[in-house]
Formats: sequence, C-alpha cells, structure tokens
Amino acid sequence: MTKFVFVTGGVVSSLGKGVAAASLAAILESRGLQVTLIKLDPYLNVDPGTMSPFQHGEVFVTDDGAETDLDLGHYERFIETRMNKANNFTAGQVYTSVLEKERRGDYLGKTVQVIPHVTNEIQLFIQRGAGVGTPKAVDVAIVEVGGTVGDIESLPFLEAVRQLSLQAGRNDTVFVHLSYVPWIAAAGELKTKPTQHTARQLREIGIQADALLCRADRPIPQEEREKISLFSNVPVWGVISVWDVDTIYKIPRMLHEQGLDGLICDKLRLNTPPANLRRWDDLVRDIANPQGEVHVAMVGKYVELGDSYKSLNEALRHAGLKNHVRVNIHYIDAESLNNDTWATLERFDAILVPGGFGVRGVEGKICAVRCAREHRIPFLGICLGMQVATIEFARNVAGLADANSTEFDPACPCPVIALITEWQDEAGQIQTRSPDSDLGGTMRLGAQTSDVVPGTLAHRIYGNVVTERHRHRFEANTRYLDVLQRAGLVVSAMTQREKLTEIIELPPAIHPWFIGVQFHPEFKSTPWNGHPLFNAFIQAAIKHQQSRAPTPTGS
Ligand code: GLN
Repeated sequence: MTKFVFVTGGVVSSLGKGVAAASLAAILESRGLQVTLIKLDPYLNVDPGTMSPFQHGEVFVTDDGAETDLDLGHYERFIETRMNKANNFTAGQVYTSVLEKERRGDYLGKTVQVIPHVTNEIQLFIQRGAGVGTPKAVDVAIVEVGGTVGDIESLPFLEAVRQLSLQAGRNDTVFVHLSYVPWIAAAGELKTKPTQHTARQLREIGIQADALLCRADRPIPQEEREKISLFSNVPVWGVISVWDVDTIYKIPRMLHEQGLDGLICDKLRLNTPPANLRRWDDLVRDIANPQGEVHVAMVGKYVELGDSYKSLNEALRHAGLKNHVRVNIHYIDAESLNNDTWATLERFDAILVPGGFGVRGVEGKICAVRCAREHRIPFLGICLGMQVATIEFARNVAGLADANSTEFDPACPCPVIALITEWQDEAGQIQTRSPDSDLGGTMRLGAQTSDVVPGTLAHRIYGNVVTERHRHRFEANTRYLDVLQRAGLVVSAMTQREKLTEIIELPPAIHPWFIGVQFHPEFKSTPWNGHPLFNAFIQAAIKHQQSRAPTPTGS
C-alpha cells in the first residue's frame, strides 16, 4: 500500500523545498523503497509552459511531453524513478477537470464547491501520480505542495492533503514542513519566531508537522532547536537543521545524519535496510576535488536568472565531474554582442547558445555562433541555439544573406527555420500547427527517436540512435537543406517519418567540435553518468584549452 509524505513550506518561498523533497526521496530509495515525487502547483496556469522564465524559471520537459515545474528536474536528477505528466499538476488542471465534469453532469445537480469537489479532485490527482490502484503503485509518494502556508491559493491543496491523511490512517502519512530561521546580524542571533508562527498556522488548518526542516545560513544549535520544538509541538529530533551548503548534493547526507529518514520510516512503519549514501558521498568528494577548470560562455537572454537554465547548468557541471574539471559558466547577455564579439568571447574554452523564445538577442547569438565557427571554438547550440547556428551558416557560408526564422521575421524571404504546419507523427496521427494556434498546444514536445548518420561526430557521441526530449515550435526548413549541405553543413540526425532535422554539425576539416541539436539533452543528464553530449562538449573544451596553452619556453 502506498504511503505519503507531504512536504509543505512556510515563511518565504525559494528555501529549496524541491531539493529537500528530492533529497528525502533519494534517501528512501537508498533504503530499498520504490519512491516517486509529485509536485502540486497552486497557480491557475494549466502548466508552466506559457510562463516566462523570468517568472517561473526553467520549464522542465518529461519523456511523455509534459511541460512541468523545474522541481521535477531535481526529482529526476536525485532519484531513479522517471517523472511523467501525472507527477506535476496545477490548480488550473484541477479546475479544468472539475469544470469538465460539471458540464458532463457528473455531479448530479449538486452545487459544485471547493470543498468537497476541488479537494476530492486534488486527492484523485495525487493518487494517480502515486500510481495507486495500478501495478505501478510506489511504496512511498512524496508530495510537495507548492507555495507557502497562508497563501490563499494553497488552501484547497493543504485541505486536500489533510483530508487524505485523515482517510489514510495514522501510520500511512507524514507531514514535513520547511521553514526559515533567519540570522539577525544586529542581534547576533538566529530567530525562531517565524518558524513558531508557521507551525502554528499549519496547525490552525488541522495539520501537525511530524518534522520541521529549518533552513538557515548556518547550523541551528541545540538550544534553538529545543525552543522550536516546544513552540511547534514537534519532538526535538524532528527539528532538523538545513544550513546553506556549496552543493545541493550534500543535502541527502545532511538530512540522514539528523535522522529524518529514520523518523519517517518509524512513523510509516516501514521496515527497511539502513540508508546507503555511498554514491552521494563519492559525488560530493568528486565535486570538491576537480583536477582543472574550464570556462564556458553561455550566450542567452534570460542570463540574469540562474533558474532559467537550471537543468543546463547542472548538465554542464555533471559533464565537468565526468571529466574531472570544474565548469565555470559565464552568462553573456546576447544583446550585448555585436560584430566585435571576438573581444568578449576569445577567453572562453567553449561557447554554448541555449534554448529560448522570441527575437530579442537573436542577432547577438548569431554573432556568437559566427565567432565560434570562425575561431574554431567548441560550440554547442541547443534548440534555438541550433536554429541560430543554421541561420548563421546560411547567411555567412551558404550565401543566403536573407536567411532567418519565421519566428523572428514572419515575412522573411529565406526562411531556413520555419513553422512546419502539418506532419504525421510516430503514431501515424496528423499533427498541425499554425501561427495562430493556442500557444499551449502547438509545440513538438517530449521524447522522440531518430537514427544517427554513421561517421559523424554525433554518431561517435550517441551511437546509432538518439532519443531526446523536445520543446519547440519551429524546425529546420527541409526546402533549404540541400543548399546548406552543399555548402558543407552536415545533418547528422533526422526523424525518419517527418524528416525533421535533429542534429547538425560541421565536418572535422572545418571545425574540431561544432554541434547544434534541436532537442534539449540537458533534461536527461544525471550526476551519476552525466550526459554523452555534454561530456563530449566539456572534453572538447579541455582540448581547446590545452591547444591554446602557451608552450613553456626553455629556461
Ligand atoms: N523558439 C524556438 C522554437 O519555438 C526554440 C525553442 C527552444 O529553444 N526551446 O522553435
């Protein structure tokens, strides 16, 4: 039978609830349990797909094509279970479902209300995420409730989990609450009051926390933990200190050392072998001991906000671990680049243009690609990055001076990147897109497979087939492929049925390492194996650095 751990948050957001939930899941998994994680987002958007990265950070994409909260990225990097559509849902989805049922007459003439109809629906979504009643049912589902206690929109979600715990029984659910303990410099003290208040606020809505994860910039001493325990009605061994660390991969060990998994397994009556965190310890040791470092320029639009490229940052760091180097990522605002880009970019060991939407910064990105191509700097273009690499090649090598994407210039005379309006997908269904379609429904989303052309760089990296996740609307326009290929561009992977370009590259005679991919490989990178494409990219950066190193002169 599936047991539930509900993770709620208090005081402020951005305390790392997602990482805490993922860390707990990782510890439970190391105890031999089948675990999954579910994220509940109380906002009204149906999914984060249409939200700006400035608002919401990265949109994480699952194999089955769900556009989800970035916490699902943490989940997949921390545990073995893969996420899918059912692992993240929003108030928008819950209300849509309730309203559809109402229109169908499923509520038999009753007045449809938040309690019980919306709260019941939330419980159904949670059970579906945990696979309850199916062969996929997990031992423990960790349910992270987005937002903070006290938000109006979180209330139906908290009420739903309270009801679920009441129905499930004492030893089938646990509540973990994440709180904040600020250090007040003027007083020279850690203050426990906000935590006392948030625990009380939780009790007011009928939830007694079993454990409090107290975030602070430093470890919380015993005396303060006792005080928190007294005021929050949580036993002192449940008051767990979670201090700032240089890498999130230290959190599983930190929580385990303070007995969080023991407390949870006791409450849930789960008899398991002890946790084995060996691989986390090895990982943290490797992170602390690089044998060199490389500098990667990431030329993008959302550069001010680290969260917009969360998975990408992690994938680059994982690849660094694989290659025993620290990867320093330098964010370059694409709008600051122009034809004199070399002065800005020459000091880097590699250049990356990530995914993105909209015209802002595109010309700067094209300048960055040109610089990488002409100066033979390792280059990786992801999604939009592949598209701008295609435009750059078309304009500056293939002689198509007007080349552009219809995303940036709908009337462009030479659309090397364009909206493909109709094609047949792998299931044989006709898919259509039009410039006026709903933004939510016109993307190529999720995992797709294609063959890789033997003899290419992509083939050395991926082997015969590549399966990666997509999230984009525009494609390389097949009408121009011939002319681009004749000018030297290599198309190293293409989907068989739809003939959609998946990977482009430059041949070794022209460039040592230049690849553009239409998909998002960063979503599949884990700290354990890294990802073959990023591993190869960082390896190329190291090589480039070595080739530039001044040769020692004889003394
Ligand atoms: N804006 C481009 C498209 O929709 C690229 C999207 C992306 O980089 N994820 O095709």
